[in-house]
Amino acid sequence: MNKSGRARHMAGFILSCCLLIVIACALLAQYNRHPSGSEPLAGHNAGAGSGSGLSPDKPYKIMIDPGHGGKDPGSEGSDGAWEKDINLALAQKLYDLLKQDPAFEPRLTRADDTFVELADRAAMANDWHADVLVSIHGNAFEDKSVAGTETYYRYANGHPLATIIHNQLLGALDFQDRGVKEESLKVLSLSAMPAILIEPGYVTNPAEEAVMQSDDGQSRAAQAIADGLKQYFAER
Ligand SMILES: [Zn+2]
Repeated sequence: MNKSGRARHMAGFILSCCLLIVIACALLAQYNRHPSGSEPLAGHNAGAGSGSGLSPDKPYKIMIDPGHGGKDPGSEGSDGAWEKDINLALAQKLYDLLKQDPAFEPRLTRADDTFVELADRAAMANDWHADVLVSIHGNAFEDKSVAGTETYYRYANGHPLATIIHNQLLGALDFQDRGVKEESLKVLSLSAMPAILIEPGYVTNPAEEAVMQSDDGQSRAAQAIADGLKQYFAER
């Protein structure tokens, strides 16, 4: 056998060995899956659980930003409630929902009634490398009859998330659709990831304020945002 013939022979031998190893591994894997030779129990469906069905390599990092806080109360509701408290209550419900789902890792820019600068809220999301930022507010206007759901984004990368969550909120709250709008809001402008700001309703509108203050209304809004996040990442 000449030199190249030997090399060819050697290569063939190595290839055969590799093939044998692959076949052995496959047989072993099959055996491990059904050690007793039996079929898996009915109903034992891989991936089925209480979570979203999403299975990212790492959980999606969701920065939840309850608007205002501390010395900055936000808008005053028609019933005298402050926007900062309504925002925080909804944010905490959303946090609790996402915390139950292994696909998500939520974090709050504030977890109590403290003042946080807008730039610091964006910096928290940027430093943490959040996948998205959701800022939670409530709308206000001097005319109490003005009502409805509005959602803002700043850059094009935030538009899909804004649209999905906006539609989920409309479905959950059944408020008037005031649209998804591009707006140069500081917390959105300074955030490096897809970032949106939601205004589920008007705190100055008595009917909407009542819903936004209620446990049921907040739960529905929180579930809508969580569902929107699941839909958003499932479609990525
Ligand atoms: Zn606000």
